[in-house]
Amino acid sequence: MNFELSDEQRMAVETVRRFLDNKLEPEIRRHGERFIPKPLMKEWTQALTGYGHITAPHQEQWGGLDMGWLTHLLIFEEIAYSSLDVAIPGFINAVGAELIRRFAPETIKQRYLADLVAAEKFVSLGISEPDVGSDVAAIKTRAVRDGDFWVINGEKTWITNGAYSDIFICTCKTGENEVTHILVDRDESEYEVRDIQKMALNGQSTAQIFLTECRVPVANTIGRVGDGLRNTLQVFEIARCHMAMWSIGIARRAMDEAIAYARDRAQHGKKIAGHQLIADKIAIMATKIDAARLLTHRAISLVQAGTRAETECSMAKWYATEMAIEATRDALQIHGGNGVTREFIVERLVREAIICPIPDGTTEIQKLVVSRALTGIQAFR
Ligand SMILES: Cc1cc2nc3c(=O)[nH]c(=O)nc-3n(C[C@H](O)[C@H](O)[C@H](O)COP(=O)(O)OP(=O)(O)OC[C@H]3O[C@@H](n4cnc5c(N)ncnc54)[C@H](O)[C@@H]3O)c2cc1C
Repeated sequence: MNFELSDEQRMAVETVRRFLDNKLEPEIRRHGERFIPKPLMKEWTQALTGYGHITAPHQEQWGGLDMGWLTHLLIFEEIAYSSLDVAIPGFINAVGAELIRRFAPETIKQRYLADLVAAEKFVSLGISEPDVGSDVAAIKTRAVRDGDFWVINGEKTWITNGAYSDIFICTCKTGENEVTHILVDRDESEYEVRDIQKMALNGQSTAQIFLTECRVPVANTIGRVGDGLRNTLQVFEIARCHMAMWSIGIARRAMDEAIAYARDRAQHGKKIAGHQLIADKIAIMATKIDAARLLTHRAISLVQAGTRAETECSMAKWYATEMAIEATRDALQIHGGNGVTREFIVERLVREAIICPIPDGTTEIQKLVVSRALTGIQAFR
């Protein structure tokens, strides 16, 4: 296994870092944690596409840079380091575009892929419902055929990019045990969106989506009817690596903030970085961040090579997301009382980190996936 980044990857990371430090992060800081309206989110996300956000893994034919998923994760880590709110919409576009690239008919690819890669349009992906989270197969949103149309009724919740979305890839029941992806274009088929307030990440949109007698051309079906679950599991591998990487981004930021503070703050006659219990926390943070990064790089390298890597992606996701909670919490502790004020960003990082283990399969679900692979015994039903 090669642990060195290529020159191209190193340059991509350095370039996006410079742009974030010198230009984008100060602007985002001035905006604060308030909701970022769609035109501004589009402007920021589009600026980042020039540095490989969304574009890195996708092919030139669709406006991408063809640099692979690992490079995308490296760039994504840098954006998450500066602002998760701004990193997230492009992450969903990158994954949504991949779902379309792998499974959609050519007409759908021609119609939407380039716009998603350029962040000209935003996509959202809807599985979760008020009564259905971890048990994806139990979804209730139903699509019924009526000639050349699907008629969709149901309610989705926790949908990232919901308010921004121009298109919504809705996971629907199309038969008793049949789950299918259907693309709903908001210009043609109306759906109602209501944003959800959370403890953090309110700069971007997480929303409920209501579909009532929503008529969608059958031509908008993505993948074969009944293949929705199987196809979801494939793109989940990529999504889970991104969840791992966003956690690594905020954990690394927390560590850097903690190191700067510990080198500056003096108590008991010396800098607190010199106290062994503080040094212990910093050493653990650094080591666990690297461990999470290695798990994530391995997982995405397997995906990039075309190998199914469900177990490796689940390991990376649960380990990195739980690690981020510990790292941000320790960083806050190193800041003492200052850590709980809005003057220092570790307070925000703690609130963001605690969300990480939930989307794209909770920690419990990831552990069931890993243990199922080891024991061979069905873990869910
Ligand atoms: C910020 C955010 C963004 C999200 N974005 C999206 C999105 O874009 N699209 C989308 O479709 N969804 C999205 N989600 C939803 C997310 O995927 C679900 O919240 C998640 O899958 C868990 O489902 P749930 O919340 O219904 O919890 P539940 O499934 O009800 O689980 C509750 C608890 O029980 C545990 N549990 C459940 N089953 C088992 C089991 N078999 N064994 C052991 N423990 C179990 C869970 O781990 C959890 O701790 C998002 C969620 C959040 C918070």
